[in-house]
Amino acid sequence: MNSKIWLSSPHMGGTEMKHVQEAYDTNWVAPLGPNVTGFEEDLENYLTQSSKVACLSSGTAALHLTLILSGVVQNDDVICQSFTFSASANPIKYQGANPVFIDSEKDTWNMCPLALEEAIKDKIYKGKKPKAIIIVHLYGMPAKIDEIAAISKKYNISLIEDAAEALGSTYKGRKCGTFGDFGILSFNGNKIITTSGGGALVCKTEKDKQKAVFLATQARDEAPHYQHSEIGYNYRMSNVLAGIGRGQMEVLDTHIGLRRGMNQFYKELFKDVDGINVFTEPSQDFYSNHWLSCVLIDSGITGFTREDLRLQLEKDQIESRPLWKPMHLQPVFKDCEYYGDNVSETLFNRGLCLPSGSNLSEEERIRIKEAIIGFLK
Ligand SMILES: *Cc1c(COP(=O)(O)O)cnc(C)c1O
Repeated sequence: MNSKIWLSSPHMGGTEMKHVQEAYDTNWVAPLGPNVTGFEEDLENYLTQSSKVACLSSGTAALHLTLILSGVVQNDDVICQSFTFSASANPIKYQGANPVFIDSEKDTWNMCPLALEEAIKDKIYKGKKPKAIIIVHLYGMPAKIDEIAAISKKYNISLIEDAAEALGSTYKGRKCGTFGDFGILSFNGNKIITTSGGGALVCKTEKDKQKAVFLATQARDEAPHYQHSEIGYNYRMSNVLAGIGRGQMEVLDTHIGLRRGMNQFYKELFKDVDGINVFTEPSQDFYSNHWLSCVLIDSGITGFTREDLRLQLEKDQIESRPLWKPMHLQPVFKDCEYYGDNVSETLFNRGLCLPSGSNLSEEERIRIKEAIIGFLK
């Protein structure tokens, strides 16, 4: 029996244990310490643009804090890309606010600027301006940032970038996560680099960073005793896990190269197949880390659906997965507003994510290739 080929699994570079061992040897086994500071510096240097980074327990926690820093409170409206993982939208509910979902455009699969502006105008007309806009760079593909940033500026609404899947992706040469008022990253086990679990908040000023750290460590006022004037959270990253992150930063660009290599592998594999398209950057302005490689299957042409292919791959011990099911179609968000044309619904119905890890061996690639070629026959 063949071993399972996963969609995206952790890929250690080799130096992670050195940093973890150091945390252990120096007894920095705490949610702060030299590895946390070091990992934050590594990320700041990598992102450039004078970014400030606070390392946290998860990307979801980071997103929650960006909403608080944007002033989102109960009953506010927050605009969010519908085509995403639920973690992009859940923190809106943590704040007691209302998600307003926006459809995707076909080029990058991310938030449609036209639907976004339509929603904002409609909301303002009805007497309530949204408090924040959460865009996502899904599967590592940068959104149409120029258009969206211009709208955020025109209406003076805070822009939050969910770059959980897009560390290392760039738009016009600038790193994703650095365009908005705030950005977030994730280091969950399946992401492009991992700390087993973890995330980061990216902001523009030291003041915002300090505020994020303050909220992430139970909002303790300055006093010798424990004194609190605000509700706080336990959201800081462990110094042990930050050690893994420091090691992972040394191999990030190599791993991006390997993921992009997987994307190239699928382009080659499907180049003569009518009705199957590999998701690709729409122009030179966009550079995706290709966290996951995805295909769209037009069953009217191929005669099979994405589900047919998925089930065959499963039999061959190869993991694949439908694209994210849009939030406006999720039972938990069924009462939320939605603006769009069901582009994301079509993507969900036709799309499949294929094994994309930076650690896939030549043998595993041959197995994937043979399984797909066998299925196409
Ligand atoms: C993974 C992910 C998150 C959440 O990150 P965690 O670190 O798992 O909390 C948020 N948004 C998107 C798009 C993600 O893929």
